[in-house]
Amino acid sequence: ALTIGIVGLPNVGKSTLFNALTRATVLAANYPFATIEPNVGVVPLPDARLDALAKMFHSQKIVPATVSFVDIAGIVRGASEGEGLGNQFLANIREADAICIVTRAFDDPDVVHVAGKVDPASDIETIATELILADMQTLEKTIPRLEKEVRGKKTDAAVLEVARAALKVLEAGELLSAAAAGKALDEEILREFQLMTTKPFIYVFNLDDAGMHDAARQQELGALVAPAEAVFLDAQFEAELVELEPDEAAEMLHENGQDESGLDKLARVGFDTLGLQTFLTAGEKESRAWTIHKGWTAPQAAGVIHTDFEKGFIKAEIVSYDDLMEYGSMAEVRAHGKVRMEGKDYVMADGDVVEFRFNV
Ligand code: GDP
Repeated sequence: ALTIGIVGLPNVGKSTLFNALTRATVLAANYPFATIEPNVGVVPLPDARLDALAKMFHSQKIVPATVSFVDIAGIVRGASEGEGLGNQFLANIREADAICIVTRAFDDPDVVHVAGKVDPASDIETIATELILADMQTLEKTIPRLEKEVRGKKTDAAVLEVARAALKVLEAGELLSAAAAGKALDEEILREFQLMTTKPFIYVFNLDDAGMHDAARQQELGALVAPAEAVFLDAQFEAELVELEPDEAAEMLHENGQDESGLDKLARVGFDTLGLQTFLTAGEKESRAWTIHKGWTAPQAAGVIHTDFEKGFIKAEIVSYDDLMEYGSMAEVRAHGKVRMEGKDYVMADGDVVEFRFNV
């Protein structure tokens, strides 16, 4: 499964956030194949549509999609020098598919700030710089090797060119993800170098209660990291929320003027940033959201349920969630001709409620 690595300076609330994520971790019963490791939090992707489907189909259970977060470690200024970022740290971050940078934006005189004051812009800069420096070191080692390989005709010259161009981008103090998005660098070749700044970043601003109610402040912070996504939450508040029963938590959120918890928001943003989407199935056994990559076709989606479904794929019988809710039952949807038969080239859309037809 794709994972999101959580990084940040020390004392910004990473552990507090990660502990809340772990507390929110889905019951393993529904995910028998998921090995839950201590530094991995597997949280449900919030989806109110599943509740409505379960009601309509009298489902015995609901199985949401999940998002996996990995607790990586603290980064400190100068981390990429001397001993470097540490092998374990590098290995963990390389394995992550996206990076979630947690930044302290809360005031609390009792919590020491490593840089002496609360300054999210400077903290973000510090982290970006360390990751850029680490990528530069990687490329500085890779380039001489590639030069040799190109001379020996073992590697295509284009690969070396991308490595050199990437190093230039980093030397200019920029993240590679931005350059790759602008198509200035070949993404597929870049991926081979296992760099960190090619990954999508998500920023979490850990705010205090005042900050959570300060729209102007949030807008300012969001602008620091745009076009990357920013999630605003109060890690301590989230840690308290996950201890409550769902209805109590909903009430506390409501009282606090929030329509969604920070963890739910983070799960949604994270899932989307990973390039994932869901499709839905509903029946008496379960109402369920299945994870696929954006752009996947109907047979690929069928393969997520069972490899035989992909091999023997005939058709997908699809109704959109909105139509299903509007007409109130499968029978009514059918009577109004709103069930579509889609073939093997169909690209799945968000909100598709699906039944696959296949040969065994
Ligand atoms: P980490 O080093 O980034 O993992 O940070 P921790 O999660 O251990 O938090 C460092 C300290 O800040 C702890 O004493 C936390 O209780 C405190 N802390 C974390 N989040 C918040 C927050 O949202 N508000 C306040 N006031 N303190 C927080």
